[in-house]
Amino acid sequence: MNKLSIAIDMDEVIADPIDKFITLYQQDHGYNYTLDQMHGKEFGELLPAELTHTLREYINRKGFFRDLKPIPDAQETIAELHKKYDVYIVSAATEFPLSLEDKQAWLADHFPFISWTNIMFCGHKIVNTDIMIDDRTKNFAKFSGRKLLFTSPHNVTLTEYERVNTWKEVAEKLL
Ligand SMILES: [Mg+2]
Repeated sequence: MNKLSIAIDMDEVIADPIDKFITLYQQDHGYNYTLDQMHGKEFGELLPAELTHTLREYINRKGFFRDLKPIPDAQETIAELHKKYDVYIVSAATEFPLSLEDKQAWLADHFPFISWTNIMFCGHKIVNTDIMIDDRTKNFAKFSGRKLLFTSPHNVTLTEYERVNTWKEVAEKLL
């Protein structure tokens, strides 16, 4: 039987860097940012000008991606999808070279059923799976399969894609 294939993004889809940004800027700079403030914006847009450079510094640090919280219900839903589909994790991780080891170790911790053969760390996402789940519409530009835009604060105002707000909604659509 030929299974359909799915490419699943990491950040803001199965892993939560925004929660970590909120914690870091609270701890290190005393700001109490909330998700509501991000409505339609990138986290970096909330920062005062003198701190905007610090965001990339945090992301480029070894360890930044190692302890992110999983997005709610991602583990359970992807474990079920894994039985029915060929599931690939596709992350534009090469932008942050120190993230590679952290991301693979994080996947081993939280998604141990995903084999190394199904992990794709890349730059541009040139993939030909049947379905893609991603929070960034730029990754849909050259993708011809079914596109599921996973809701993240920065994309809430976009209307041109099929949207999934939660992993429970992904389960309803695909399982
Ligand atoms: Mg993402």
